[in-house]
Amino acid sequence: MTFKEHFEKYSWDQVKEDIYSKTGSDVEKALRSHKRTLEDFKALVSPAALPYLEPMAQLSHQLTQRRFGKTIQMYIPLYLSNECTNICTYCGFSLDNKVKRKTLTENEILREISVIKKLGYDHVLLVTGEANQTVHVDYFKKVLHLIRPYFAQISMEIQPLDQDEYEAIIPLGVNSVLVYQETYHQEDYKKHHPKGKKSNFNYRLETPDRLGRAGIHKMGLGVLIGLEDWRMDSFFTAMHLNYLERTYWQTRYSLSFPRLRPFSGGLEPKVEMSDKELVQLICAYRIMNEEVEISLSTRESEKFRNHCIALGITSISAGSKTNPGGYAAEPGSLEQFEISDERSPAEIAAMIKSKGYEPVWKDWDRAM
Ligand code: SF4
Repeated sequence: MTFKEHFEKYSWDQVKEDIYSKTGSDVEKALRSHKRTLEDFKALVSPAALPYLEPMAQLSHQLTQRRFGKTIQMYIPLYLSNECTNICTYCGFSLDNKVKRKTLTENEILREISVIKKLGYDHVLLVTGEANQTVHVDYFKKVLHLIRPYFAQISMEIQPLDQDEYEAIIPLGVNSVLVYQETYHQEDYKKHHPKGKKSNFNYRLETPDRLGRAGIHKMGLGVLIGLEDWRMDSFFTAMHLNYLERTYWQTRYSLSFPRLRPFSGGLEPKVEMSDKELVQLICAYRIMNEEVEISLSTRESEKFRNHCIALGITSISAGSKTNPGGYAAEPGSLEQFEISDERSPAEIAAMIKSKGYEPVWKDWDRAM
């Protein structure tokens, strides 16, 4: 059995009706509860929870501090390639976007690494599009051999792979793999992914199962906020997380909530999410799940990221470039999306310290 069978028992419209009919007393019950259910999560992300933002933030803060202490992990993305055979309506690397395509060579990767290391990083997130002819498992193997000596922790945000392919690369130093469903709304998913392997909704939906079976140490889930109503998409993410934690209990999990950002090609969000609602969502996940790591990228504004440090997040990126070669090899190439917080890693680390938290550049080592 995979998540797909669980997912198929639910109807988007029924979940929507449930969430939008929650009341203040449902929210109060969720806040009081010691063993929260997915029904409680529906209440916490409902419009009825907005007046309870202050108690939600306080509880989220306490739970995060109890489990993670006053620490924030630092990571940086390294874009290896913008080649992509998919059309995704929200992405600057989409096949139908006429931009110069680039996959970094080993020398170029080393140049990128030298800049990233000088910034202080020991955690790197490797990012690619989906171009199976050039950016394939053998390419990943070469890259992992090349960069492994430089980083304590390597995460990957790459195209979904088969289980045996994950089994081939995980032992080469991959600590975590991020695979975002983008939206759990199956019909809208088709509209946003009209061409390429990514248009297969079910293959993507079952990717975390393949990762779990392959024995990944940590996996990251999430949706692209703005494609659909974030409340239902967040519920399905929470349900997916619940299922995975029960099924692959030795794996750790992280969540991310990227909001649609401007990019070359320009899709407007179908559903806007306010800063207040993003705070609500961060708190709802934390109150629901004390173990999950929550990350916030440079897509979010300076002011918002400053405000969120103590709320429930556990990792943050800084100084990010979203184009292959962006740090040294080809700084002028097209970005996947515009970043919002342009502060340097040193400035972000100083901001974290000013809030009484410790920026963590390395919290994991292969020897552990
Ligand atoms: S989101 Fe990923 S798969 Fe889609 S076009 Fe962009 S890089 Fe390619």
